[in-house]
Amino acid sequence: MAGSTHRRAVITGGAGFVGSTLARRMHADGWHVVVVDNLCTGSAYNIADLVQQERFEFVQANVSEGLDISGSVDAVLHFASPASPPEYLALPIETMKVGSIGTFNALELARANGATFLMASTSEIYGDPEVHPQIESYWGNVNTIGPRSVYDEAKRFSEAATMAWHRTHGVDTRIIRIFNTYGPGMQVADGRVVPNFICQALRGEALTIYGDGSQTRSFCFVEDLVSGILAVLEHGDAQPYNLGNPVEFTIGQFAELVTELVGGQAVVYQPLPEDDPKRRQPNIDRAKRELGWQPEVDVAAGLVPTIAYFRERLGL
Ligand code: UDP
Repeated sequence: MAGSTHRRAVITGGAGFVGSTLARRMHADGWHVVVVDNLCTGSAYNIADLVQQERFEFVQANVSEGLDISGSVDAVLHFASPASPPEYLALPIETMKVGSIGTFNALELARANGATFLMASTSEIYGDPEVHPQIESYWGNVNTIGPRSVYDEAKRFSEAATMAWHRTHGVDTRIIRIFNTYGPGMQVADGRVVPNFICQALRGEALTIYGDGSQTRSFCFVEDLVSGILAVLEHGDAQPYNLGNPVEFTIGQFAELVTELVGGQAVVYQPLPEDDPKRRQPNIDRAKRELGWQPEVDVAAGLVPTIAYFRERLGL
């Protein structure tokens, strides 16, 4: 902002789980932070501590309908999108709009201001991967007409748009591919495996394993992810970076870990959702080698504050 020494960042989706954790860290690092969110899946609760602060602005708006931010902007970080499978399946058209028109609007804001643009992409762009672990050079295996395609293809399209603005307009761009991430700030009703298992265990309910539990995921603590995002923003280049924790679990093993930490619960098997990827594990060599970033928090350690957070959200 004119006369200010603080860099100013616009975070779309900044009231969401990852966006709000990023907003809090950037604010603590001295940034002026503008969060734009329509709260369709994000929550005012996530930014309640920030809204009273100096150098923080909250704009409740849908990024797909325009992104009218006055004053200078140094960075635009595009995190707006439903991100959990049940949420994007419930909001398929909104998900496609925010990953197309919303991305155009965010890119234009960056272009108009000469700002750095960072696209929050996802491991979902790899689909049900035939290459394991997934490396950035892998192009993916996505069902273009399956139920998950609304999210997968919107994010793939957003990557393409980011590269088009980079090549055509010379915008300084970044693309990060976020693998499964967990931590405080997730919604109780988010529907992903970490909130489901923890909330089920805390309520004394059986943990719902979809399929036979042999499918794998790798879980990154959100504060580690945010460190990676900032490393890419400050020191990265325009090619994509995988960000995630490479320690791989089967969902059955993960249910056991949650059970050990919260208390003994039964499991119940439910049908595997359509096109559910069988294996997912990031190859993070590029971020390690070029940015010196890697996750520091092991999953059991990261689950402790996450369980405490959900205990509080459930009023237990
Ligand atoms: N899953 C599960 N039980 C649940 C929620 C999810 O077994 O209550 C499985 C899901 O089928 C998938 C994995 O856990 O194989 C991770 O699902 P999540 O929705 O967290 O994210 P995804 O990685 O599929 O985007």
